[in-house]
Amino acid sequence: MRIPEQGLTAEEIIATLEGYRGGDVPWQSGRAWAYVYDPGEAGMAIGKRAFAMYLTENALDPTAFPSLLRLENEVIGMVADHLDAPEGVVGNFTSGGTESIFLACKVARDHFRERHPGVARPRVILPYTAHAAFEKASWYLDLEAVRVPVDASFRADPDAVRDAVDDRTCLIVGSAPSYAHGVVDPIPALGQVALEKGVPLHVDACVGGFMLPYFRRFGAGFPDFDFSVPGVTSLSVDLHKYAFAPKGASVVLYRDRSWRRHQIYACAGWSGYTIVNTTVQSTKSGGPLAGAWAVLRHIGDAGYETLMRRMYEATRRVCDGIRAIDGLRLLVEPDTNLLAFTSDEVSVFHIVDEMKARNWYVQPQLGFAGSKENIHLSVNPKADGWVEDMLADLRASTEAARQLPSGHAAAFVQQAFAGVDATSLDETTFAQMLGAAGLDGVALPERMAGINEMLDALPPPLRERILIEFLNQLFVPSRGA
Ligand SMILES: *Cc1c(COP(=O)(O)O)cnc(C)c1O
Repeated sequence: MRIPEQGLTAEEIIATLEGYRGGDVPWQSGRAWAYVYDPGEAGMAIGKRAFAMYLTENALDPTAFPSLLRLENEVIGMVADHLDAPEGVVGNFTSGGTESIFLACKVARDHFRERHPGVARPRVILPYTAHAAFEKASWYLDLEAVRVPVDASFRADPDAVRDAVDDRTCLIVGSAPSYAHGVVDPIPALGQVALEKGVPLHVDACVGGFMLPYFRRFGAGFPDFDFSVPGVTSLSVDLHKYAFAPKGASVVLYRDRSWRRHQIYACAGWSGYTIVNTTVQSTKSGGPLAGAWAVLRHIGDAGYETLMRRMYEATRRVCDGIRAIDGLRLLVEPDTNLLAFTSDEVSVFHIVDEMKARNWYVQPQLGFAGSKENIHLSVNPKADGWVEDMLADLRASTEAARQLPSGHAAAFVQQAFAGVDATSLDETTFAQMLGAAGLDGVALPERMAGINEMLDALPPPLRERILIEFLNQLFVPSRGA
């Protein structure tokens, strides 16, 4: 596509964009059960207004825009107070969970390296259910991610973690809750291991940290998960998930200010303006920060309690409904509004496609380390008006999926790629694999069951190679015209 010689009118442009997003997940009507966190119109509107108001302000330099420093300290203060954090806790506003996790990993790595300069690749201990963002951080930061088994309820196993800690370990990770199954790890027991071994502990409360205090008020029984637990050194909470802020909003907190030195970057050794950055980005919009601040101030504690109660109660109804559908079962009773269910009789990947045909987005999760392939649901407050419709379609989708053939793509790849090394996958083999999954080339297919089944049948390193090849072919520039 060429930049138009003469600029188009605002009306033309917006009409084109409206057309473009016609094929996206229809979240506005509450039909997306992942990716979107919707507090309803009023919460959305104030976030948008504040975001737009600060769109152009540059959070690169708090001396030029002191209001951004103030907003950041107030947002961190609101989160710290919400979690009853002890005096001395500090934190920063980041672009998302991934950035918060990167920073916490970097701080732990550099703290460790100061004391053990001879260790080239410090280790991070990750229960199998810890978020992929820690693997990604390890990839960027040259850390070794060490995965350890979880218990039958998909919660971290403190003994397995203890066994994995060695003299190269720079960080232990626990989740509150884990994304996939929505259960809270035993953080107090992990804190014990951390203290015993003298290793820091990061709590990944990205998805649920903001929600857990409310769910506890409603009677959910999970252990302490925050700085009240001895041994917890850092914690991440996303505001763009269940604090309902516009996207680009997360917080990373440290128990001790001295740790954060490893996070802050300064450069006075070049010919331009002095660089001092608390986070990864340098020039960055003030929009996400102002948006998050405004949403927290507007919804308020009572407003959040109402939204969270709707989620809490809708989740109970969803779980009961799933249990009542022939052929489906929950992988585990969730502590939160995030849940995973599967089937031992029907292909869950066909169920996902059938739900899509009925205009619902539900999220497929591949099998991994004792967690059978499944469907994930994140229950939004708005979902409370949709639970019965969704469950009726889920029942119909399960019956429809029962009639569909499955197993072909899995059998093919298992046979054809047994023993194939992930690093040897070339474009020809990749094309064959797509063919086996029922695709003729790289495109976004209407039905994904074939490709999901194929991926599910392969070991993770080969899955990853295929996904990388797929994306590398998917993102090609639209040139000319
Ligand atoms: C979403 C999530 C992350 C990653 O956050 P992003 O905002 O997507 O970068 C990390 N941990 C958990 C538990 C999450 O749910």
